[in-house]
Amino acid sequence: MQKYIIFECLNCIFVDKLLSMDEFLKELPELAKEKLPESKKYFAKLKKRTPKNLDVVMQELHDNEFEKTDCLTCGNCCKTTSPIFTEKDILRIAKSLRMKVHQFISQYLIRDSDDFYVLKSSPCTFLDLNDNTCFIYDVRPKACKEYPHTNRRKFIQITDLTLKNTEICPAVFNIIETLKTKFQI
Ligand code: SF4
Repeated sequence: MQKYIIFECLNCIFVDKLLSMDEFLKELPELAKEKLPESKKYFAKLKKRTPKNLDVVMQELHDNEFEKTDCLTCGNCCKTTSPIFTEKDILRIAKSLRMKVHQFISQYLIRDSDDFYVLKSSPCTFLDLNDNTCFIYDVRPKACKEYPHTNRRKFIQITDLTLKNTEICPAVFNIIETLKTKFQI
């Protein structure tokens, strides 16, 4: 079974711990909560003294992490959260499913508290729970395509969202813990 490396701080020394993806996902919410105060402080400092090459480093960390992490063994974002569906997403997906837009919306979507269209149910209706593949992968929402946003330009602007994602996405958790070792501020 493929093993994933996570970082645990023991007496301020980072050690590697090998876990299967399932084990990692079970531990993740607790681990992320434990790290949250430290991560919040870290990002607050990073915002005050943002390194010029932060986006370049984030891209590297993102690429390295996703060489190790196979989303098909996880699917946790699709099982626990909903993407936002933009108008363009809705038109594209409805067309590919040969549905009228209003049919697609009434069957699958609701408005959230910010008035964005999101999925009515979770896990995602379009997720195949047998193998974590997506039934609408080629036309999936932009938000799914870009998730978990750790390679986004101007990463410093989305640190709050990233902190939330440390509880959901094992890759984000690892990327942020590695970032802390890259820029020790
Ligand atoms: S993006 Fe993160 S949460 Fe989603 S499937 Fe990949 S590793 Fe899992």
